[in-house]
Amino acid sequence: MSISRFNAIDTILNRHETDMAYFETPTGLVSDYFGVNVFNDESMQQYLTEDAYLSVKAAIQSGAKLSREVADLVASAMKTWAMEHGASHYAHWFQPWTGKTAEKHDSFFTLNHQGKAIEEFGGKELAQQEPDGSSFPGGGLRSTFEARGYTAWDPSSPAFIFEVGEGKTLCIPTILVTYSGEAMDFKLPLLKSQTALEDASLPIVNWFDKEATRVIVTLGWEQEYFLIDEALFNARPDLLLTGRTLIGKLATKGQQLEDHYFGSIPERVFGFMRDLEIECHKLGIPVRTRHNEVGPAQYELAPMFEEVNVAIDHNRLLMDLMDRIARRHHLRVLLHEKPFAGVNCSGKHNNWSVATNTGKNLLSPGEHPGKNLRFLTFFVNTVMAVYQHSDLVRASVAAASNDHRLGANEAPPAIVSVFIGTVMTNIFRQIEKGETTKEDVKVVLDLLSKIPDLEMDNTDRNRTSPFAFTGNKFEVRMVGSQQNCSGPMTVLNTIMAAQLNAFRKEVDSHVSEGKERDAAILTVLKDYITQSKSILFEGDNYSEAWEKEAAKRNLGNFKTTPEALGAYVLPETIRLFETEGVFTEKEIKAFYEVQLHKYHTTLEIESSTLEELCMNFVLPAAMDYQTRLASNKVQMKEAGFDNKHVEFSTDTIKRISKNINAIHGLIEEMHKARLQAHKEADSLKAALIYCHEVKPVMDQIRLHADDLELTVDDRDWALVKYREMMYIR
Ligand code: ADP
Ligand code: MG
Repeated sequence: MSISRFNAIDTILNRHETDMAYFETPTGLVSDYFGVNVFNDESMQQYLTEDAYLSVKAAIQSGAKLSREVADLVASAMKTWAMEHGASHYAHWFQPWTGKTAEKHDSFFTLNHQGKAIEEFGGKELAQQEPDGSSFPGGGLRSTFEARGYTAWDPSSPAFIFEVGEGKTLCIPTILVTYSGEAMDFKLPLLKSQTALEDASLPIVNWFDKEATRVIVTLGWEQEYFLIDEALFNARPDLLLTGRTLIGKLATKGQQLEDHYFGSIPERVFGFMRDLEIECHKLGIPVRTRHNEVGPAQYELAPMFEEVNVAIDHNRLLMDLMDRIARRHHLRVLLHEKPFAGVNCSGKHNNWSVATNTGKNLLSPGEHPGKNLRFLTFFVNTVMAVYQHSDLVRASVAAASNDHRLGANEAPPAIVSVFIGTVMTNIFRQIEKGETTKEDVKVVLDLLSKIPDLEMDNTDRNRTSPFAFTGNKFEVRMVGSQQNCSGPMTVLNTIMAAQLNAFRKEVDSHVSEGKERDAAILTVLKDYITQSKSILFEGDNYSEAWEKEAAKRNLGNFKTTPEALGAYVLPETIRLFETEGVFTEKEIKAFYEVQLHKYHTTLEIESSTLEELCMNFVLPAAMDYQTRLASNKVQMKEAGFDNKHVEFSTDTIKRISKNINAIHGLIEEMHKARLQAHKEADSLKAALIYCHEVKPVMDQIRLHADDLELTVDDRDWALVKYREMMYIR
């Protein structure tokens, strides 16, 4: 028997004080224990000889391959450090295209050739491992004879110790590739895109700043999530199996009072957050802000920004940590974008920027905006990159679960546009009207110097924009709460790299024709500003008027994942990825296949779960109540009352019957469509069947099921209701 709603509620009401307790007892200040579980720069210095340390650092910075000798030294230092910290195992930790993290644990323990037990971990084990590659989606990249996948160490992200219960494992961030070196994970393309952007930016940065020798991509994510009691979670098979509620009537008290945003954090949740923060800090994840979100039971966590690769590893790690720590508190974290229909959805804003190793944020006007042609250069090029590749940006956030945000009338829309704020809009207008001589550069810079405070102007404006300039960075708001940020970040880095390469060529060609460089830069920027106008939008992105206007401007509006994903495999996209060295044609096509497959598997699981819910919970409850009403009617009549006195029973029986019959018919219909999709060999066609034939039927079933929930006696309804999930803490 499954856990019914009533057991679940009982369990919560009887929770003991200990369920509310904190598990972590930090000693001292955060700065005392920040990063204790990370093999960071400090531990490397402590555990490596100076020579070895310097070679590792040099290799990390240049991206060069480490010699076997140095790898051995690092491995030995890591092992000593990890064992001193109580670790018994090590694991290569990686991010396959499933979207979850994976790891293969091995013990340090082994037997030497004399049969003696020893602890061993060498450069070979650090550098490469062979997990069972065939269990990770490769989109057809592997033929069976080369089914192996390899993980390879990424020295640019520090190893860390992950604690599960009493067990401690040394986790080594790695990439996952096929036997012939093709990417099967998120990290390798991300690293390549970062290199592409660095290579494209550096020569341009050096026009302005001779000192800079590196360009770094920075990311600060904001993770939204829901939190509910585990007893309620376990009593909802749909949450358990699909991460979202497939049916459920909205609570009468919803978001309309808007009293939750920044409301006080309930005590149990606070306990969870506190433990989570401590664990994060021990792992070097610099989380800082925590607050309630718009939806009831919804919260957000955000760190300080970091170098993009590390920031993404930290976000993945955080998502795992959240789950583990919530369980300690008898809570469950819901990372799905839309766990509850009609309630605010969860996103993961990606704040993206580029900086130099000399500490300059290239998207910040800085203290002397009047001297900052560099800022204008990177700013305009970002707008231009998104203008040129908006459909690819949309594709990068496409997923079945994110369709509930982007495709529905909710934040943000499926149409990609860029918000730049009034100040920058005015500057764009002036540039467009002006000339581009050497003197005009001074005029433009003078305009920039009068920028009041860009951060003030932009930070809190226009929450509806999918891609917004927020003073010193762009905020990509389309990313879904459970997505790996690598997808969108890889695309953004790649299109920016391509854009900057094109820009440099154009400027150089003006210079070779005798134009002074700053004037040449302004000439090209002015041209971009004129060309890219249609991507700029400052108004309400949720309005119908915008949808119409966007169509007039010819902007893409891909509401569903199968349609949106198409941008990945257009000939121009393949060329783009190949030119920038991020994906080969084979890799991007494989990635596309995996995404389509993920889409239709998600919908397949959802629709069969819905069918089960209807058959096992909804219909039996409805019929039981219907029978009770019918016998009430009979008894009333026997007692001498006429039809007038049994109107409620009669009408309700009719209403229930209508819903039951409708659900019955719709389930048949859904079944047929699923079968048809199942027979379809082409993944796109299968995905489209799920999208256009299965999903709409699921929505209809939901309407009938929710009406039954409203009609049926509360005592008969075994599925936990929205009001309980939203408001019982
Ligand atoms: P919001 O107003 O959207 O809620 P928050 O203040 O919660 O924004 O978060 C802003 C995020 O932007 C933080 O994660 C922060 O680290 C990040 N951020 C700030 N500066 C940069 C930068 N230069 N590059 C990348 N991210 C940045
Ligand atoms: Mg934000």
